[in-house]
Amino acid sequence: MVHDDNAVTRLAAAVSRMPTWAYRSMVRVMVECRASSFASFGTSRLMPSDDGKYVLWAAGSGVVSSSTSLRLLSASTLSAPVSSDTRKVPWDDARRIVVDAYSEFSDEAGAIVARFFDDNWIDGPVRPDKRTGAFCATTVPGVHPYVLMNYTGDRRSILTLAHELGHGLHGVLAQPLGLFNSSTPLTTAETASVFGEALTFELLLANEDDPRRRLDLLTGRIEDAIATTFRQIAMNRFEHAVHTERRDQGELSPERIGELWLEAQNALFADSVSTEGYMPWWSYIPHFTGTPGYVYAYAYGYLFSLAIYRRYLSEGETMVEPYLDLLRAGGSRSPEELAQLVGLDLTDPAIWASGIDALAEELDEAERLAGELGLG
Ligand SMILES: [Zn+2]
Repeated sequence: MVHDDNAVTRLAAAVSRMPTWAYRSMVRVMVECRASSFASFGTSRLMPSDDGKYVLWAAGSGVVSSSTSLRLLSASTLSAPVSSDTRKVPWDDARRIVVDAYSEFSDEAGAIVARFFDDNWIDGPVRPDKRTGAFCATTVPGVHPYVLMNYTGDRRSILTLAHELGHGLHGVLAQPLGLFNSSTPLTTAETASVFGEALTFELLLANEDDPRRRLDLLTGRIEDAIATTFRQIAMNRFEHAVHTERRDQGELSPERIGELWLEAQNALFADSVSTEGYMPWWSYIPHFTGTPGYVYAYAYGYLFSLAIYRRYLSEGETMVEPYLDLLRAGGSRSPEELAQLVGLDLTDPAIWASGIDALAEELDEAERLAGELGLG
């Protein structure tokens, strides 16, 4: 992994001098991530898969095509599944996997997560008329969190379960702080969920010997990571461009907004994805109008959590209590102070590079597997 630290520093300095509609420091984080992404995922690579599908790792986009011959991908084929594996994991097995993943990290965390199952704090099954999606509702002190999800038995569903139980663990641990200090701002809200997903993903991967299914696991994880980091960063740059131009030039036409959207998306996809017909697609992101400036927090939170996870991988046991202390602190301290609890300095751009390094290692492993399978 090579990072262009000079580019990061230069861009960060340039942005810090700019007037910006969003929090300046957050935008700087985005630029840092973005600069790293260019260094890390600078080239487009193609990997045909076993059944005639092709996987393309573009400049930070990591996209999948179901085409039967090499061609430029269209935006509408992004994130199509690479695998035809349709095995289902029963709920009880998913429960065992997730509780094991948390328990291997910490007995206390495992016991809290197990309570969600034992005490029926999870609405898991798919039912007619049930709302879609997944979330963890942490309400008021004295009431335990609830998880809602739609468990379908695929491995993505297991990771969703692990994700929501991370929120649940965070909620339970921070609850003694009371109403005003327990809930977190969005920047740190995904810390426990992404961390729990990482623990569970590692367990799934460790238990999977079949190289093709390992590759499938890895590509799914990389896709998720890219959607949560690089894609959100590109969206943040789009928002920034729109708000800046609106301030400077007045009302913008839908066409102009579409052009700015395409500029940001083309920078993300480089020349690997055709964005023909993609111009109006900015309009399907509700955050742009409902909660402007929100998308940065996905990338921020995800990389923050991955950086903590990497520190756990290198430090081992000694990180367990400090990490649980971080969760126990809920939203009572700033992200910088919380990071200090686990020995991380949020003012150091290296922390973001660390999160991106984690993704790059998974990408390397996916490529190695693809090569081993004769798909590279
Ligand atoms: Zn979440």
